[in-house]
Amino acid sequence: MNWDYVFIGAGPASLIAAGLLSKSQPGACILILEAGGTLKHRGCPGMRRRTCTDCSKSGCRVTMGVGGSSAGFGNKMCRFPASSETLSLVPQEVRLQVEDIIAQLLGRDPGPPEVSEFPVGTVRRKFYSADVLFRSEYGALIAKLLAELSHSVELRSDAAVASVQKGAEGFELQLASGEKVKTSKLVLGTGRSGHKFIRRTLDSLGVSYVEAETDVGIRLEARTGLFSESFFYQNDPKFKVDHGELGTSRTFCACRGGHIVPVKFGNGFFADGAFVSGLSDVTNVALMVRSSQLLTSEQLDEWCRFVNVRSGQSLLLGEVSAEGGPSAATILASVPVWPSDRHKSLMAELLDAVVAGKQVDMFGTSIPGEAVKIYGPAVDRYWPLPSLSTGFQTNVEGLSIIGDAAGLSRGIVQALASGVGWALVESVATGMLIDEVLTHPNSSKAA
Ligand SMILES: Cc1cc2nc3c(=O)[nH]c(=O)nc-3n(C[C@H](O)[C@H](O)[C@H](O)COP(=O)(O)OP(=O)(O)OC[C@H]3O[C@@H](n4cnc5c(N)ncnc54)[C@H](O)[C@@H]3O)c2cc1C
Repeated sequence: MNWDYVFIGAGPASLIAAGLLSKSQPGACILILEAGGTLKHRGCPGMRRRTCTDCSKSGCRVTMGVGGSSAGFGNKMCRFPASSETLSLVPQEVRLQVEDIIAQLLGRDPGPPEVSEFPVGTVRRKFYSADVLFRSEYGALIAKLLAELSHSVELRSDAAVASVQKGAEGFELQLASGEKVKTSKLVLGTGRSGHKFIRRTLDSLGVSYVEAETDVGIRLEARTGLFSESFFYQNDPKFKVDHGELGTSRTFCACRGGHIVPVKFGNGFFADGAFVSGLSDVTNVALMVRSSQLLTSEQLDEWCRFVNVRSGQSLLLGEVSAEGGPSAATILASVPVWPSDRHKSLMAELLDAVVAGKQVDMFGTSIPGEAVKIYGPAVDRYWPLPSLSTGFQTNVEGLSIIGDAAGLSRGIVQALASGVGWALVESVATGMLIDEVLTHPNSSKAA
């Protein structure tokens, strides 16, 4: 059978895009191929012990499966707007519609833009709002996206795509099972877990891309009450530091009342943060550094593996007393090896700024006997940035890239915005309009 559209990956970007597409083109044959399992089987068996059990032949259960890379957990849902990088690929005339559709899906008004930054010494503080959705709430959101898929959409789990080729009449996909699938149009929504697959695919199809400057670092976890109010000025405190030629650093992805989660990465694993079913009394925050010295996937893979082995296959690298303020030097030394001296120097400067209190005091009060735990390694932005034009199109006819795989910016709202943006552009290009969008009061077309 020849499909009209195939989406690779069943994350939020593909699910919302396929749902809208199936409404605008009811006759189109649409297939979604997902490497991981179904939504019901997303739990991470290594979470409690904070190690990776390398549990599944079909990949990491945290990042792979129906619902995408965090569907087994709850999440922070950023409020609008979508990032300027994501919106740069959405034509101006449909941006309001993108916001309308996401607002309807999330059941809330996007409101005015809330993202802003201002300096505190040499540190910049970024403001934006985010709400926590627990696992059941996030699961309900994914279930809603699944329910929006019309009968013309087939979703197959445990269906990893191994390779893609382009022929005169479209694309031929080879699945890991050996099966071949043909399609006229192909959308890559492979997220962060598909980073090796997407590089191979872009190389074989002739799509140019650049490597991102990877973020590496650690996660600090302590009782929520130990963090200072000046540090926790919002749900996810984002302090960014510019270190000149050395690079940049930041605090990000704070899970206030959340958990540390192991994420499989190559032959090792790294620490991420997530929420489950209720708030705990601890909080974890990522401290990340970004150097212009590029690290290949293999180097990152090796670094993670080395840190894992040296820490006895545990994400817990050590702990420091919170009494009198945790020592930045001890935290720095808890990582057995850094990817480079530059990364280590950047982390030393970040720790000075936010832990030693030179710019912001991360920990306010300290109670004798309490500790700050150090988890690592932490890795982010390890996937490529493909060259894309408006509508998330590549230079290869019929090939688009959405969600985290577009490499611009990550997060659920960004993934949803790119999926909706892609579907709206596609519906206009094919002359098929998405009815409910057109009737929504904010819609520029309705006006
Ligand atoms: C632990 C954790 C916590 C997070 N917390 C937050 C948060 O609080 N807030 C937030 O906004 N974001 C969070 N994120 C990020 C968020 O989950 C992603 O940005 C978002 O899911 C991206 O959506 P996507 O559709 O682009 O891709 P993904 O959700 O990554 O989905 C991609 C899918 O493609 C599949 N795939 C990959 N390669 C292939 C292949 N070759 N064949 C078939 N299928 C393939 C994968 O199995 C995966 O299911 C978190 C991520 C993790 C891992």
